[in-house]
Amino acid sequence: MKLFGMIAALAALSATPALAAPDLAKMTSGELTAFTKAMPKGGELHNHVSGAIFPETFLKWAVEDGLCVDVATLAFRPPCTPAGDLKSAASVLANDVLRSALYDSLSTRQPGFGGRSGHDQFFSAFNRFGLAGDKRPGDELAQVLDDLARQNTFYLEAMVTPQAAPAVILGVQVGWKDGDLAAQKQALIDAGLEKLVGAAIAQTDALEGAARETLKCGTPQARPGCQVTVRYLVQTNRVAPLASTFAQLQLGVALVQADKRWVGLHLVAPEDHPSALANYSQHMKMVGFLTEQGRLAPAALHAGELSFKYATPADMSFHVGEAVRVAGARRIGHGTALPHEDGAEALAAEMAAKGVLVEVNLTSNDVILEVSGAHHPYAWLRERGLPVSLSTDDAGILRIDLSHEYARAADEGASYGDLKRSARNAIAYSFLAGEGLWTDPNIYRQPAKACAGQIGAETPRPGACADLLAKSDKAREQWRHERLLKAFEAARR
Ligand SMILES: [Zn+2]
Repeated sequence: MKLFGMIAALAALSATPALAAPDLAKMTSGELTAFTKAMPKGGELHNHVSGAIFPETFLKWAVEDGLCVDVATLAFRPPCTPAGDLKSAASVLANDVLRSALYDSLSTRQPGFGGRSGHDQFFSAFNRFGLAGDKRPGDELAQVLDDLARQNTFYLEAMVTPQAAPAVILGVQVGWKDGDLAAQKQALIDAGLEKLVGAAIAQTDALEGAARETLKCGTPQARPGCQVTVRYLVQTNRVAPLASTFAQLQLGVALVQADKRWVGLHLVAPEDHPSALANYSQHMKMVGFLTEQGRLAPAALHAGELSFKYATPADMSFHVGEAVRVAGARRIGHGTALPHEDGAEALAAEMAAKGVLVEVNLTSNDVILEVSGAHHPYAWLRERGLPVSLSTDDAGILRIDLSHEYARAADEGASYGDLKRSARNAIAYSFLAGEGLWTDPNIYRQPAKACAGQIGAETPRPGACADLLAKSDKAREQWRHERLLKAFEAARR
């Protein structure tokens, strides 16, 4: 039996709990919605915070901040004296037709809106709502944390861009050293890149302080979002000039090493953009070089977020492979085109053996790439023993939540065991520091020796298990999740 076959068989065995698992296929839509909302989903590994905000919330903030709306382009504008197409956000809120059109403009609820494809509507929406969120990063984060807590989910790896403009500008100033990566790195150090690390840490302090204030953490009125543990992934821009992308990545590695709240790197923006396609292999070399293939800082890279609608067969033939083998990525965002890659079966087997997780975003792939249902590789990945975890990508633009994605996965054939594994994977394959509570992630039959026989208990017994939880962030989050899972399953017996 091939390695992935054995892993898949073991994974299937572990999906069978002592008592009969809930049969999701027999549930009505209402039952499935309530079930997946209440189910503890461990965490979310693929969440762009700015894309997670619903248009209703942006408009509310715009009214509070006195912004205007250009009703011709249906985009937020700075505070203005209303005239012509520029109207106050408050007047748009009060106008049923304009309010509805604005919500269409800021989301994908009408994929053909403005004559755009779902792909173009999605990626262009960021520019139209950007102004409403720019001064409220703490409110954005607070909203995401509260939304997760209400879904019985308490870990988030949030994608945020630290010191975006200064890093991009520094890259432009230094210029591109024609692929001499060591010279590029030294030139940026000489130009003072490391000074941005301190600025990024201060920016993170301010972000968390604002979010905690919004959530009223530490007061009797504390909102559920205060209970969510958050870590950050450095977003870097794959359509910026090469030197700027490099500067953002270099800053990211330094930040991960300096501040434990920052745990990894991502490359974002449309993977099918001509510049992203032209520079793809160079970007993978940069990540591999700067992170020493993940040894200095782990990477979770958007790769294979492609389909025939937006890419050629040649474009779809190598992106995930290079992300894993050249960049040393430990997680892949999307991987939708993975079965199209050259040597796809061998690559999938390699990823299963190495434990490279795929962050699966079903609704996002449906709306942006027009890949859904039986055409989506979610089942193919599971059958090959690749660890997968469900996530939302950009819940506000797509008008979904994490529970919706779990219900959608069930509608598309996932069992309760698959969903339970997705939830556990969201912590086991997180970039949280420390040894895990399981020695066999994606299978979950073998607890760490220190905690054998105790998983699911209220508190660990004094000794080895308590010591493990005291020193490992990851084990602590897994312990909390297992307690929630036990309570959830017990309530349904
Ligand atoms: Zn994404």
